[in-house]
Amino acid sequence: MSNIFITGGSRGIGAEAVRQFTAAGHKVAFTYHRSEIAADQLRQETGAIPVRCDVKHHDSVKIAVDKATAALGHIDVLICNAAIADYDLITTIDISRWEEVINTDLNGVFYCIRYALPTMISRKSGCIITVGSMWGEIGASCEIAYSAAKAGVIGLTKALAKEVGPSGIRVNCVSPGMIDTDMNASVSEEAEAAIVEETPLCRTGDPADVAKAMLFLASDDASFITGQVISVNGGLVI
Ligand code: NDP
Repeated sequence: MSNIFITGGSRGIGAEAVRQFTAAGHKVAFTYHRSEIAADQLRQETGAIPVRCDVKHHDSVKIAVDKATAALGHIDVLICNAAIADYDLITTIDISRWEEVINTDLNGVFYCIRYALPTMISRKSGCIITVGSMWGEIGASCEIAYSAAKAGVIGLTKALAKEVGPSGIRVNCVSPGMIDTDMNASVSEEAEAAIVEETPLCRTGDPADVAKAMLFLASDDASFITGQVISVNGGLVI
């Protein structure tokens, strides 16, 4: 049994990860930002511990990591999942919106790792799973900030794997394709059908598809895997 800390656990992929890790017998703390009611329902459903956090502010992240550490004892596995999407042209995106996406999706990952890592280093053991995106691998038109942030997450993952591997810590990135969550609520039926048409496995993904990859990477079965980007996209990006 491991102690797991998942950011963005109140909805979507993160909430499914909370369910899967608790069902597998792990002790789980997770963050929510705005979805307090959903977080409390998930607490009742799974026994996992909710902690409020805005990942774009490092002081909020520090408090959340401290609370999670106090509740769990220590953190064995950190899953940096919280993020926001954005659709805009580079010529029209507000500077403030660019900053919000980078602060949430890239800096938020850095803050979580920055505050959770020292205990892992002193324990000479740990596992970090970042959540990228296929758009961080290949870029998406009209998703300049999101693509840049997720490409940054992938670079951070690879660099950190090299830096902390000798300390017994593995760092990998799960890179989803199109998954059925609120994040894609504004995608039109036509656009979704076009993506399914291009996907070799002929469907969009479920949050469980991604959570199962996280479970594998967090397990001893993945003990020789670090610095990798594990794509969960039905073959849409190969
Ligand atoms: P959702 O929009 O369903 O959920 C996002 C989660 O992130 C929520 O729990 C939300 O918390 C949390 N969150 C958002 N902003 C903040 C913040 N500032 N501070 C703390 N938490 C925050 O997203 P998904 O489940 O779809 O996405 C999960 C991950 O998977 C993300 O990293 C996303 O980029 C990635 N991904 C998703 C894809 C998809 O198709 N769905 C494709 C590729 C990657 P709350 O509701 O409490 O505010």
